[in-house]
Amino acid sequence: MAFDRFGRKIHYLRISLTDHCNLRCVYCMPEQMTFRPTSEMMQDDEVLCLTRLFAGLGFSKIRLTGGEPSVRANIVDIVRGIVATPGIRSVSMTTNGILLAKLARPLAGAGLERVNVSLDTLNPAKFHRLTRFGDIEDVWEGILAAEAAGLKPVKINAVVVRGYNEEDVVDLARLTIDHPWQIRFIEMMPFAGATDLQVGQTVSAEEMKVRIEQALGPLTLVEDGALDGEACVFNISGAKGDIGFISSVSAPFCASCTRARLTSDGILRMCLLREYEINLLTPLRQGASLEDLRNMVLDAVWNKPWGHGLADGEIPLNRVMSEIGG
Ligand code: SAM
Repeated sequence: MAFDRFGRKIHYLRISLTDHCNLRCVYCMPEQMTFRPTSEMMQDDEVLCLTRLFAGLGFSKIRLTGGEPSVRANIVDIVRGIVATPGIRSVSMTTNGILLAKLARPLAGAGLERVNVSLDTLNPAKFHRLTRFGDIEDVWEGILAAEAAGLKPVKINAVVVRGYNEEDVVDLARLTIDHPWQIRFIEMMPFAGATDLQVGQTVSAEEMKVRIEQALGPLTLVEDGALDGEACVFNISGAKGDIGFISSVSAPFCASCTRARLTSDGILRMCLLREYEINLLTPLRQGASLEDLRNMVLDAVWNKPWGHGLADGEIPLNRVMSEIGG
């Protein structure tokens, strides 16, 4: 088991399989983003080797992310390999859904448990503006394919950005009335000058909740964040699905954070919004022993920052979201 110096058990690893993406969401990366060459990214065997290392230290929950994990070559085989790793109990994926119509079934067959699909609006024109060139129909087909393939419960992530989609929370929340999905509204986190968006464009979870309640009636608390990772979960009376709020900016949940992140270039990052990083891929390629790598991970876990520093104006400068893995 890996514990940090504050007594938090760290057992949840988010692995970014690539920084490449088939969309360019305005809050995630600059429009002219340049992506890493494949040689700088973890190769398939390196992903599996590091997964075994983390599993041996008590990490049991894996989420695959990116960039866009579904554009990674051999994605189905990678999932199969991670699922088969002793000690790994749950493997899920965060995806923009564009390729899910094709991949949902093979991914489910490889043992993927479920997916979180990002969808910030139901309005095709706004979707295009937010993602810079996405087609919402592809995502919708992907969500239905995921559900049909048994990748359940489907969770939908919507980042809410002032001036783009703050009104769209109502239509998204309404989906939960007829669908057994969890729609999760996420406060936008700032990534310095790397995106065009400013801290002032973050919409608070409270503001989103008020907007939804005014349109759809009162929301009843189902679970607070302690039970469902990061989200505070509510529902509309009689609805089939739930509505979650992830208030990373207005009410951070750092005290209960159990996560580490492995970037596609093999860097271990112990807080999404802190620049503290440990390079694991270079020593792995240079022949470091398993024992040395284990000690590096345990040391990084021990020194996991208590929490992010957004409230003090500390915004990460060295990487944007797509290079870390949300
Ligand atoms: N491409 C995949 C996708 O679209 O879901 C996975 C990677 S994406 C970085 C993972 C999650 O991070 C998505 O739900 C995305 O909306 C969220 N995200 C990206 N930038 C963000 C930001 N600045 N603040 C909050 N969430 C963000």
